[in-house]
Amino acid sequence: MVLDAADHVVVVGAGFAGWRFVEALRRDGFAGAVTLIGDEGHAPYDRPPLSKQVLVGKWDVERTTLATPELIARHDVRLRLGVPATGLDVTSTTVHLADGTEVAGTHVVVATGARARRLPYHAASRVHSVRGRDDVVRLLTDLARLDAGSPVAVIGGGFVGAEVATQLRARGLRPIVLEAAERPLLGVLGERASSWLAPLAAEAGIELRVAVEVLDVRDNGADLTVTFGSGPALNVGVVVLSVGAELNVEWLATSGLTIDNGVVVDEHLMAAERVGAIGDVARFRWRSVAGDESVRVEHWEVANTHAAMLARYWTSGVASDALLVPYFWSDQYGQKIQMLGHARPSDDVVIVRGSPTDAKWLALYSRGGVVTGILALSQPRALMRSKHLLESPTTLEHAILEAPWAA
Ligand SMILES: Cc1cc2nc3c(=O)[nH]c(=O)nc-3n(C[C@H](O)[C@H](O)[C@H](O)COP(=O)(O)OP(=O)(O)OC[C@H]3O[C@@H](n4cnc5c(N)ncnc54)[C@H](O)[C@@H]3O)c2cc1C
Repeated sequence: MVLDAADHVVVVGAGFAGWRFVEALRRDGFAGAVTLIGDEGHAPYDRPPLSKQVLVGKWDVERTTLATPELIARHDVRLRLGVPATGLDVTSTTVHLADGTEVAGTHVVVATGARARRLPYHAASRVHSVRGRDDVVRLLTDLARLDAGSPVAVIGGGFVGAEVATQLRARGLRPIVLEAAERPLLGVLGERASSWLAPLAAEAGIELRVAVEVLDVRDNGADLTVTFGSGPALNVGVVVLSVGAELNVEWLATSGLTIDNGVVVDEHLMAAERVGAIGDVARFRWRSVAGDESVRVEHWEVANTHAAMLARYWTSGVASDALLVPYFWSDQYGQKIQMLGHARPSDDVVIVRGSPTDAKWLALYSRGGVVTGILALSQPRALMRSKHLLESPTTLEHAILEAPWAA
């Protein structure tokens, strides 16, 4: 299946993956029609700066825009913004929209990503998530009303929660991170690595409360009262929720596509004939050094790679044989955490350079003696020098002997 100029590609989800796919299609020479459908009112923009540069006030939110009017014109893409897709007919590759219209293409890409998980608290206002541009603008408006040093609760101490707390502190507020687990990132990075990162919050002067059960958030007029399963209530000016994401797949309920923790796609990112899925929403066959796995990964770089892979496959018929090595970064508590690979929390992990006491280290994850991931704290060059350890199966023993991070 190779696209030609008579084809019409419909991309649903005008986020990062959707836009990167449009760019890749044009770069690879596709001359047919492209329609990009998005439920947000904004042209595609980038999310990572929202919890970093935008929240701290270094960037205006406009600066996150990826698809400028010039780029939209140059890529000759029809944008349908502010209107959600409500259904997909896989056989006719027709997308149904909430305004009663439909867009019939020859090929469809599902790139509808995820949304912030909400929790059923009683307070409706001053409780925020950080997923989209509108969320951050609303949050910034409420933060601007707070006095310096005001307490703000950040519910969830994962990557985004830690970034939010870092920026709140830089804005002169007093973030209090409320984490349900014994330690932040325990379920993502595992027992040992999460313990090496645990002191970072305190070292950055940020209060972190672990093993707390938040029962409710109520508006008491002046501020918000957070109540817990045990212990005294906490009064704060604003609450930020960072408790993970939920997939935007409801619109595909009657499509016949396989939905199982994501839109299930094959090794070419195909969900059905002439229907692909990419980015956060896609659960894909991942050929890794530790064998084949079916995974869904919410990383910017994975969405970027998916977009390039699918565009190449559709425009040339040639599948990429490069091994995808997932990459993730997070700027939190004044440090840069980076990870390559997709290690499981149950994998073994050992520090091979630096130590937690100098807050600079590089660690290798392994499963069955084969390296599955590399996690680094403020060691960006050493991490990138070690990437090839994940490009073909490498034993932990060999990796330690070679020590590419030390070069
Ligand atoms: C605050 C924040 C910080 C982040 N920081 C990092 C980081 O430091 N490093 C990193 O690797 N990753 C980071 N990420 C993750 C990264 O941004 C995502 O992996 C990436 O945005 C995925 O792109 P996507 O296009 O698959 O999904 P999205 O960016 O979620 O885009 C999907 C789009 O589809 C739209 N949509 C949904 N349903 C419909 C529908 N029915 N019809 C039409 N449109 C629909 C959505 O509204 C959205 O605009 C961060 C994410 C957030 C939210």
